[in-house]
Amino acid sequence: MSKVFNLIDKEEKRQGSQIHLIPSENIASEAVRKAVGSVLANKYAEGYAGRRYYQGNSVVDEIENLAIERGKKLLGVPHINVQPYSGSPANAAVLMALVEPGDKICGLKLSGGGHLTHGHPNITFSGKYYTSVQYDVEEDGRIDYEKLGKLVKTEKPKLIWAGTTAYPFILDWERFRKVADLVGAWLVADISHIVGLVVGAIHESPVQWADVITSTTHKTLRGPRGAFIAVTEKGLQRDIDLAKKIDRAVFPGMQGGPHINSIGAMAVAFEEANLDEFREYAKQIVVNAKVLAESLRDEGFKVFGTENHLMVVEIGNHQEDEKIVGDGKQMAVALEKAGIIVNANTVPHDKAGPFRPSGIRIGTPWETTRGMKEEGMTKIAKWMAVVRDCMGDDGKLLKIRGEVEEYLTSRK
Ligand SMILES: *Cc1c(COP(=O)(O)O)cnc(C)c1O
Repeated sequence: MSKVFNLIDKEEKRQGSQIHLIPSENIASEAVRKAVGSVLANKYAEGYAGRRYYQGNSVVDEIENLAIERGKKLLGVPHINVQPYSGSPANAAVLMALVEPGDKICGLKLSGGGHLTHGHPNITFSGKYYTSVQYDVEEDGRIDYEKLGKLVKTEKPKLIWAGTTAYPFILDWERFRKVADLVGAWLVADISHIVGLVVGAIHESPVQWADVITSTTHKTLRGPRGAFIAVTEKGLQRDIDLAKKIDRAVFPGMQGGPHINSIGAMAVAFEEANLDEFREYAKQIVVNAKVLAESLRDEGFKVFGTENHLMVVEIGNHQEDEKIVGDGKQMAVALEKAGIIVNANTVPHDKAGPFRPSGIRIGTPWETTRGMKEEGMTKIAKWMAVVRDCMGDDGKLLKIRGEVEEYLTSRK
């Protein structure tokens, strides 16, 4: 037993001594983690509150109902399902509820900042069991809604995904709605990345435009690992049975027993997200990201964005005639040696593949939660410039690692 806990201690120290810029990661509160590790994890509760298959669920029903009530209030929706194990199963359930195998669906390409579950061809369930048509971003990294409209008019998908994992601009929900209405498609907003900005009132909510909203709860929302599916008034107007269809797709369609410990932690996170403190945090995420993007530009980086919590930074020269590709990965590895954690990422229209892409993706939620402000962002940009300029020099990278650690310790 102690082996695992020694490793957990080690991981805690690592988290405390490195800078975290992966935009999907965050630090959940003690209260959230306490609920995740609580006795709620012991219970099986297939079904929904008041309609369970096993006995002993009177308290569990209260927990799930509380999460549902708080979630509905936070998102401003008439129905929410809090059982999805994570974002990908939530999206799978939405597809199961709204379309039939083989039906046409439409989502943003992975290389343009979309998610695997939005119809990535061949290797994902969404690309394999449905006919997938994908849209892309332009050279500047932005979605061209007129072009999307034309594609949708020609292809006539039954469902359109609006949601991103590496898109540094604000999504125009109204335009997505207009595009979906061209062919009567379902509009599903997947706000996994930006949910904290949406409930923190920084990014417009898709609630009056989308039929269904999906989101993870462990990214900018700072909750447990998990996800929810919300049904909007608009969605219910279109199909009075929509909520029932979604619930049935989650259980028994895709899942068995819900993770009640995660659902309890979700109820905690929903409450935390209602506080003024959370709105301050959401605001600071965007301020920090803007300062980081500007400081990186000052250091000579090419930066896509930002209007939200993340940006994509081009590292290498990715022209076709260039031998050097994959500089994003090299940069990510060098940064790790220097105590700064990012992930390699494709840039818009990347000539290199997703395994060794030309850029890195960086975001500010984690460090904002840790209380970092603008002056921390300029420091990070300076460190990143040094790392870029001395990628192969382990001595220099280690020196930065020392500076990073010292900076983080000085702020504790
Ligand atoms: C993270 C993410 C998901 C998937 O979430 P997992 O919990 O990793 O399965 C789905 N959609 C978007 C837009 C995401 O950012």
